[in-house]
Amino acid sequence: MNFTSDIVIGLEIHLQLNTKTKLFCSCSTKPIKDESPNSRTCPTCLGHPGSKPILNKAAIDFALKLALALNCKITPQLIFSRKSYFYPDLAKNYQITQYEIPLGENGYIILPNKKKVRINRVHMEEDPAALVHKGSMQTSPYVLADYNRSGNPLCEIVTEPDLESPEEAREFLNSLIAIVNYLNIFDSNHCIIKADANISIKESGYVRSEVKNISGFKEIERALFYEVERQKLAIKKNEVFVQDTRAWDTNTRSTSRLRTKETEADYGYILDPDLVVTDITQDQISKIKSDLPQLPTQKAEKFIKQGLKEEDAHILAQEKSLAHLFEKVSISIDPILAAKWLRHELSKFLNLKNKTFSEIDIDETHIIELLNLVAENKITDLTARDLLEKLIDKPFSPQAYVIANNLQAVSDEGELTKLCKDAIKQNPQAVEDFKAGNSKSFNFLVGKIMATTKGKASPAEVSKIIKELIDKN
Ligand code: ZN
Ligand code: MN
Repeated sequence: MNFTSDIVIGLEIHLQLNTKTKLFCSCSTKPIKDESPNSRTCPTCLGHPGSKPILNKAAIDFALKLALALNCKITPQLIFSRKSYFYPDLAKNYQITQYEIPLGENGYIILPNKKKVRINRVHMEEDPAALVHKGSMQTSPYVLADYNRSGNPLCEIVTEPDLESPEEAREFLNSLIAIVNYLNIFDSNHCIIKADANISIKESGYVRSEVKNISGFKEIERALFYEVERQKLAIKKNEVFVQDTRAWDTNTRSTSRLRTKETEADYGYILDPDLVVTDITQDQISKIKSDLPQLPTQKAEKFIKQGLKEEDAHILAQEKSLAHLFEKVSISIDPILAAKWLRHELSKFLNLKNKTFSEIDIDETHIIELLNLVAENKITDLTARDLLEKLIDKPFSPQAYVIANNLQAVSDEGELTKLCKDAIKQNPQAVEDFKAGNSKSFNFLVGKIMATTKGKASPAEVSKIIKELIDKN
């Protein structure tokens, strides 16, 4: 292949669909608090001989939504294959997956920076069991297998090697997660998302390593950064490059070789005779397509038309609940003002409190009240910020709060002028210093007024009045 970038990354992402039951049996996918290992199981998801898989229709609908939202071409016939391998996480020694013909092919995602990342395929498969080690994988004297997870419905999304940096890989994952959240097919509280990353660099002639089973977006970016550096160092040391499969260790934050790379042929795929071919009709596809919600890129386009900067529009659109809040608020509030407060001020407070938007419960009527007070200059930005921070912790009516606590902005010019005159009189040295060219002294005077009004005066107005008073003298 001919690549133009120095770093080439392709991702294979396993995403658990949030169905009620497993892919081929009626066992629940939802963990129960303090459940015992292997308690949410049946002969099918335990892989007992003679058990027969029955395909979960809801999982097909969820997977179709995803494949269509990723702009894939959909296969008219759904077929499943057995991927053979010997490992304690799959008792029947094969995983039911799709190989020859995937559910969807040739899709793409457009990133906020407008880059198109091609999707090679989207297919459905069952999740294997979880292997539990005592302590670390290296030192554990035994391995335990928990089949509660076995048979959960997964979608595997395989990108083309279009990503050019670890940061871009994370951008891609953020965009993908935004889409699945909009589609309501993924629950970040209990659904799993894992990635395998293929990565190579120009200096090695693009000999690639595959890093397996990385959980979490930050970890994926870290693993990719590590691999770029490792491969560059290996070049410097004149090491021979072989295609290999590697493991990511979250503790040491490094990768290590598991095996030199196997090929797909090594898995000896055969069609699964237990599962009949399922037709996917054009009607079914059209129906799901027409029911798709507006997706993040479309939302961002809409916000840009409302006058928002591109960056603000994309950031608001990425988080479904934030985008919905913005839509409701911007009906009655100037969209640019709403974006300033929802995108910039709100995210500042969330960062400080180490929370995400989905973790807080904020009522749009309260935000609308707050921003109306700002728009009508009834409160200063300083007061508004204080109220917004309080709204993150608990709901209340900003309007009532402002009245009850006497927080209205001091905008009476007569009153402000009186306060400014007092400040000038009481601080003659600062006035002299300012006249001599020290702007800090001027800010000192403005600060005095802000302090006496407890932040309820507009700094711009106070500056204007003080300047006029000093000029007059
Ligand atoms: Zn089961
Ligand atoms: Mn897979």
